[in-house]
Amino acid sequence: MNSPSRKPLIVICALLLVASVCAITGAGCGSTSGKEGQVESVNKLVEKGIRPNEMGMVMLLEYHRVKDKESDYTRSIENFKKDLQTLYDKGYRLVRFHDLMSGKASVPAGTTPVVFTFDDSTESQFRYIKEGEKTIIDPECALGIMQAFYKEHSDFGYKALFNYLPQLFDQPKYVDEKVDYLQENGFELGNHTINHPSLGRLSDEEVQEEIALPVKNMKEVNPEVKVDVLCLPHGSVPKNQELMYKGSYDGINYKNNWALLVGSNPMYPMYHYQNPGKLLPRIQAMDYDPEDGSGHSGSGYWLQYFDRHPELRYISDGNPETICAPAYMKSRLLPDQLPTGMHFVGY
Ligand SMILES: [Zn+2]
Repeated sequence: MNSPSRKPLIVICALLLVASVCAITGAGCGSTSGKEGQVESVNKLVEKGIRPNEMGMVMLLEYHRVKDKESDYTRSIENFKKDLQTLYDKGYRLVRFHDLMSGKASVPAGTTPVVFTFDDSTESQFRYIKEGEKTIIDPECALGIMQAFYKEHSDFGYKALFNYLPQLFDQPKYVDEKVDYLQENGFELGNHTINHPSLGRLSDEEVQEEIALPVKNMKEVNPEVKVDVLCLPHGSVPKNQELMYKGSYDGINYKNNWALLVGSNPMYPMYHYQNPGKLLPRIQAMDYDPEDGSGHSGSGYWLQYFDRHPELRYISDGNPETICAPAYMKSRLLPDQLPTGMHFVGY
């Protein structure tokens, strides 16, 4: 019997069946929200000449002082301003270190995430000055220069990781304000030890003392700050490498998820089989002169390298939920390293 009154029931059952098939397969089923839609939007990018490659390499750039004159471990103010413009023009966009490491850095399609790190927490990085009654960030310190650039190019971002020493930017009366400012504005802090020693030369106990005391110091300044990255002074790795990540001294426990080296190359993301693990390379910000080879392995060199090898550079698809790259790269993926809910989209 097939009475007319049963027809709506059959239609509802049919719709439910289609809906569950869509849910199981993850297919778009006519919408552009599923995997089909993702492939479609990637194809549109490729038609526009953007070739996403989220299996490509990224850079953690490293700065020390930013002052008038360029020298070892000092980027001149002029060159720092030039760096911002060059990176922007070449399609690099600032992301937070932790977002990059968790695979959740979000930058527009066609651009490349880059991280700024500043070591030694000198005044040249973050200086307050008086302007009449007001206290302002010096427009000629690194943060002030970044702030001005951000006003003109808000899509570049205003982010950095500051690896601190006890002097915390050399203006004792502003320590609290500075740490609060960095916290409130999404900047990150990394542990750069107490005395800046080569950890490779110290005993296990001394290594733990050097890493544990800054944790205590920072808690006293601002208990909200979470520090889980260790920046190795001089890039020196302790004999017992595990102590970089976990240890204790005088009742102070510490735990770091990453340790940062001084040099000197870009890195693959954590879900790429060639990822660097927990010990991360960085790239010093400096110009490259091909004539005499100075600045080799610095930022000037690597920017030219990626200009010549765009296929090795990380290029975003603009969708934070997918890892998008040419299909053949899927075999380089470590699926268990993918952030929860993310999947590979090849083209
Ligand atoms: Zn240092």
